[in-house]
Amino acid sequence: ANELKIAVGAMEIADKVVKDVMTKIDDVFMLPDTTVLNAKTVMEIVKMGYTRIPVYQFGDKNNVTDMLFVKDLALLDPDDNFTVKTVCGYHKHPVKFVMNDTPLPHLLEAFKKGEGHLAMVKRSVGGTEGHEAYELVGVVTLEDIVEEILQAE
Ligand code: ATP
Ligand code: ATP
Repeated sequence: ANELKIAVGAMEIADKVVKDVMTKIDDVFMLPDTTVLNAKTVMEIVKMGYTRIPVYQFGDKNNVTDMLFVKDLALLDPDDNFTVKTVCGYHKHPVKFVMNDTPLPHLLEAFKKGEGHLAMVKRSVGGTEGHEAYELVGVVTLEDIVEEILQAE
């Protein structure tokens, strides 16, 4: 019954890769590092309901350099009008990257070892040896893997 389903789900992730379970980049809530954290923007961010928010530089969504944790906003005085960049510079949560074709068991291992359970997903778009070019195509979290295990038919 349920136990069997979970066992089958655990076996099925062996054949799956990151892009099969990730949240696609167009659906990812991200912020430019220039965002000013006042009462209005903080409320909008909290309302989105995500715990971790990728932060990009130079107006380029391919250039994710930080993560903003919603809990970082708790100690903020909205009247200080700090930017996302300032707050991220203080906390320095590392950004993790994973290739879109990484097998899910590998990602699961990486999540088990590390502290953070979210990775940016990138895809190779050519370039030359040593200067490979990438584009970001989504985010993936531990939750996405667990979902895949639990929903097996
Ligand atoms: P937590 O459950 O740890 O509080 P969360 O609810 O923000 O965090 P997860 O539970 O890890 O996020 O993931 C739930 C779903 O939301 C997953 O499908 C994940 O890919 C997606 N997700 C996580 N962060 C974002 C984000 N910033 N924008 C869009 N989707 C996200
Ligand atoms: P490595 O172990 O390969 O040296 P790393 O630990 O220095 O990697 P990671 O954060 O794990 O760095 O990133 C892995 C890969 O992601 C690297 O090849 C790096 O070039 C690439 N990368 C880093 N920042 C970005 C970004 N903002 N957008 C896309 N790719 C990036």
